[in-house]
Amino acid sequence: MAGNPAEPLVLVDGDGVWLTDSEGRRYIDGNSSIWTNIHGHKHPAINAAISAQLEKVAHTSYLGFANPRASELAERMCGFFPSGSLERVFFSDDGSTAVECAVKMAIQYRLQTGEENRTGFIAFDQAYHGDTMGAASLGGVGAFFDRFRKFGFPVKHVDGLASLKALPGHEIAQTAGIVIEPLVQGVNQIRPWPEGMLAELRQWCDLHGIHLILDEVMTGFGRTGTMFACQREGVIPDFLCLAKGLTGGYLPMAATMVRGRIYDAFSGNAGNAFYYGHSYTASQLGCAAALASLDIFEQENTLGKLPEKVRLLGDLLEEIAATRAHIHEVRQCGMVAGVEVRQPDGKPLDPTLRIGEKICIRARDYQLLTRPILDTVVLMPPLSIPAEEIRQMCHAVAAAVDDVLPD
Ligand code: PLP
Repeated sequence: MAGNPAEPLVLVDGDGVWLTDSEGRRYIDGNSSIWTNIHGHKHPAINAAISAQLEKVAHTSYLGFANPRASELAERMCGFFPSGSLERVFFSDDGSTAVECAVKMAIQYRLQTGEENRTGFIAFDQAYHGDTMGAASLGGVGAFFDRFRKFGFPVKHVDGLASLKALPGHEIAQTAGIVIEPLVQGVNQIRPWPEGMLAELRQWCDLHGIHLILDEVMTGFGRTGTMFACQREGVIPDFLCLAKGLTGGYLPMAATMVRGRIYDAFSGNAGNAFYYGHSYTASQLGCAAALASLDIFEQENTLGKLPEKVRLLGDLLEEIAATRAHIHEVRQCGMVAGVEVRQPDGKPLDPTLRIGEKICIRARDYQLLTRPILDTVVLMPPLSIPAEEIRQMCHAVAAAVDDVLPD
C-alpha cells in the first residue's frame, strides 16, 4: 500500500506526467494536480520563462501600473477570438476570483447602463464555480454551499435548458447573467451536457438580453479538445472565466475576458471603474509562465495530438467498463473522464463506504494518483501524456476497481 491513506501523501518532485513522493515512489499525475497542469511538470520552456522573468522582476503592482508581460498575454488571449468579440482581459488570482469578477462586473454593468432591476443570476444544479461568496452563491452542490446559502446572493438554479425555458417572464426580465461550465460539469462527477446545448443556450441568452458567463476554469486550455470548450459549438460568451491551466498549471493566476461593449460601460470616469484590485493581479511571473504555455501549445502541436489521445483514453475505458459489473458508466469529454462505480444492479453504493476514495488510494499501488468525486474516479491527465502512460493509467483504474470491488 503506497503511504498511509489517513495521511496526505507528501509530493516532492515532478517530471512530465510523473510525480514523486517523499518515499521515492512515482505516480502518474492522473488529475493534473487538481486540474491545473497542461504540458507536464518541470517543462523546460516554462521553467526557463519563469527563470528569465526572475532575472528582471518577479512582481510589480498592477493597480494603476502596467507591465509588458500582462499586455502581451492579454493580446494573445484575445487573439483566440474573432475581433470585436472578447477584447478585454481582467486579471485576478484563481478560478473563484475569475468567476467573482464576472459576477460583479455583470451586476455593475447593469447598474451603469440603466438596468438597475436586472441584477439576478441563473446557474445550474450541481454546478461548481468556486468558494468565494459570489462564486459559491452560484454553486449547486448542496454539501459545499447550502450552509452558506442565506449569506450569499439569491441565484435561480435550473437543471437544464427545458427548465430554463419554462421560467416565468418576470424572472427572466430580472436576470443579468447565466453562468455555466460549458460542455461538461466537472465537480458534478464529470457530467457532459447534451451536444448542442451550449449553442442553444447562447441563442436563448441573445433572445432575452442576458449575458452568457462561461466558467472555463476547468475546461479551458485544451482539456476538452479545443483550446476553449466554447469553440466546440461556435459560441462566444459575454464573459469568459479562466484560471487553472492559464499558467500551464505552474502559478496561481486567473483572467476574466469580456466583450468590448461591456468594458466600455466601465470607462469614461473614475466613478464607473471596476474596483477589484488584488495584490498579485497580473503577476509578472504568472504572465511569463502563461505566455510560455501558449508557446508550447504551438511548438508541440498540443491540440493537434489530442484526438488520438482522446480516442485511446475512450477506447481503453470502454474496454475496462465492458468487463466489470461494478463500472456503471464512463463519461468523457476530450481529455476529461469520469469512471463511476455502482452496485452491479446499477444502484448507487452506500456512500458511507467511500468506495471512490478507496479505489483512488488503491490505484497508488499501480502508480496512479488521482482523486474521486463521490464514487466517480476522475481522470484528467496533463495533455502532454504519452500513449503508454494513458494505457498505464487506465490499467491502474481497472486493477484498483478489481481489488476494491471484485465481481
Ligand atoms: N470553476 C470551476 C468550473 C472549477 O472546476 C473550479 C475548481 O475546481 C473553480 C471554478 C474554482 O477554481 P479555484 O479552485 O482555482 O478557485
